[in-house]
Amino acid sequence: MKLVFLGPPGAGKGTQAGDVARHFGVPHISTGDMFRAAIGGRTPTGLRAKAFIDAGELVPDAVVIDMVRERLAQDDCANGYLLDGFPRTVEQADALADIAGPDRVVYIAVADQPLLKRLTGRRVCADCKGTFHISRLADEKVCPDCGGALIHRSDDQEETIKARLAAYHSQTSPLIDYYKDKGILRTVDGAMAQDQVRVQILAALESEA
Ligand code: AMP
Repeated sequence: MKLVFLGPPGAGKGTQAGDVARHFGVPHISTGDMFRAAIGGRTPTGLRAKAFIDAGELVPDAVVIDMVRERLAQDDCANGYLLDGFPRTVEQADALADIAGPDRVVYIAVADQPLLKRLTGRRVCADCKGTFHISRLADEKVCPDCGGALIHRSDDQEETIKARLAAYHSQTSPLIDYYKDKGILRTVDGAMAQDQVRVQILAALESEA
């Protein structure tokens, strides 16, 4: 199964992707996580990407496409993939079609207003990568699942979030029609509770698997 999760920042793509990828036995590939690892490791890709990420802008297509092409060539992608955060532009979607286009695209729809609240209060575990909202945390610094350190991502500040949402609307949202026209888009309501969103995703994918 080759899957893409599409949706605005904070829609819950990363939260849902782990379970859904395990369900289908494919790797969960998050380009945002790959960039954060590259920045942490001070690799050339990380150094090129950092300024764009800090500004809430998209990293240039050529950089992202090369990184994804290399990742999809690895053995664990033989049975497919779940891409989370890629493609984000029509050029990236065209490149993916040339490498190995998706069977299904899940669009997790959420309006802008709840996204701002979700993202400003979001904390991410440095170890298990779990994501949490401060309203549900007893301790804002400790992961309730694994005890790892919780991080407030530098791009989860209000001004950067606004830039990320603007980039989403201008550059990424055209992909909704792009994949609708191919007949492979399935839309779920991302405003619902996490468990219900997962049920909707699996139902949308399994009814025709
Ligand atoms: P994410 O964790 O998916 O929210 O990604 C964090 C940041 O990484 C984004 O705001 C972009 O700056 C960059 N990024 C991740 N994926 C892509 C992509 N497919 N194209 C361009 N930039 C990306």
